[in-house]
Amino acid sequence: LAERLQGTLQKIKGKGKISEADVKEMMRDVRYALLEADVNLKVVKEFVKNVSERAVGQDVMKSLTPGQQVIKIVKDELTKLMGGEQSQISFSTRPPTVIMMVGLQGAGKTTTTGKLASLLRKKYNKKPLLVAADIYRPAAVQQLETLGKQLSLPVFSLGTDISPVEIVKQAIEHAKEAHNDVVIIDTAGRLHIDEILMQELKDIRAIKEPDEVFLVVDAMTGQDAVNVANNFNETIGITGVVLTKLDGDTRGGAALSIRSVTQKPIKFVGMGEKMDALEPFHPERMASRILGMGDMMSLIEKAQANVDEEKAKELEEKFRTQSFTFDDFLEQISQVKKMGPLDEILKMLPGAGKIKGLENAKVDEKQMDRVEAIIYSMTTQEKTTPDIINGPRKKRIAKGSGTTIQDINRLLKQFEDMKKMMKQMTNMQSKGKKKMKMP
Ligand code: GDP
Ligand code: MG
Repeated sequence: LAERLQGTLQKIKGKGKISEADVKEMMRDVRYALLEADVNLKVVKEFVKNVSERAVGQDVMKSLTPGQQVIKIVKDELTKLMGGEQSQISFSTRPPTVIMMVGLQGAGKTTTTGKLASLLRKKYNKKPLLVAADIYRPAAVQQLETLGKQLSLPVFSLGTDISPVEIVKQAIEHAKEAHNDVVIIDTAGRLHIDEILMQELKDIRAIKEPDEVFLVVDAMTGQDAVNVANNFNETIGITGVVLTKLDGDTRGGAALSIRSVTQKPIKFVGMGEKMDALEPFHPERMASRILGMGDMMSLIEKAQANVDEEKAKELEEKFRTQSFTFDDFLEQISQVKKMGPLDEILKMLPGAGKIKGLENAKVDEKQMDRVEAIIYSMTTQEKTTPDIINGPRKKRIAKGSGTTIQDINRLLKQFEDMKKMMKQMTNMQSKGKKKMKMP
């Protein structure tokens, strides 16, 4: 979905003038992209209608950057589709808060129960109690107990011989005594929705009105997820949705449809199997992600605004003629720096969101500063013919730049490697040219 939409929007982006025909054509593409991503048909129709109406409006047509206005409208409407604001968890004013997890088998209920408990403890300072109320699936109780151990969180279970309703009753009593302010109930699922399951869930629900009933659905099942959500909402009533396995879902159809079909917000998204892979759902960020503005568009803008084309050409010429010096190196660094903090730039790369740990990555900007300092401490002669940099010179440069001889050596080696690489590249190019000329 992301790729398709990006392509479509890229076409319209740079246009200085937009006609109704342009908008129509674009909306055809958008419609197609959404349907292909398994977004609910009704939702698609509504979405296209809303965007079209706004896009052909007077304000957009007359604005200086109509292309970008249209993209903004698409993003706004996507955000709205997913609920606009991020929605909060409602905690009971009279603890314990009861959260019931429901959903089909394999959707990720048990995993999410653990993740959610861990998140509530960390972000909200809660003391959750996990309740093993799935007595049917083999080893379901054990699965939750293992998670509890792993997270050092208490799990309430009475084995598999006692009814789920009884288990939940006792669990809530136990929570009061043990001062657990949140009770998260991991219920049983089925492969398909059936009467018996629904009745059991209704019975559990009736014990004490839960503060939240979270339906856990697998994002990879697309429209099916939406149908399941509708069904659960109508039969037992849900307060929100947790969309799991979004890490594997490239289409995003479920995320886009669920809210507008069920009128229930997506509260969390599961981004992996690990216990910390649960995130609050942010409609706007999801819209950005879908539009691949993760954030390609602003990255391109940044690059265009800041990298001087003339200078880039000059550098290329120097690569070719092997007259690249430390001064040029310095110039290159400053060009990169102008684009902004490096880690910010990295995050904007499409797909970067999927690279584990990148969100916390800090690109070593200090390293760049050090390189700059070293080059500034060189004499003009040293910068153009680095071969003359011997021991005493290294010592002087290190002192002048507040670095070490090792730093200088590393930089000289990098510079040498770079020159070698350039030489190879230009050799390859000239060989290629000769070959082309041969009959
Ligand atoms: P339940 O039957 O609904 O309780 O489902 P489980 O919690 O047992 O999860 C079923 C499978 O889905 C397990 O292998 C989980 O590790 C996996 N799973 C759950 N949530 C996620 C998620 O957000 N991302 C990924 N990749 N796997 C998940
Ligand atoms: Mg389970």
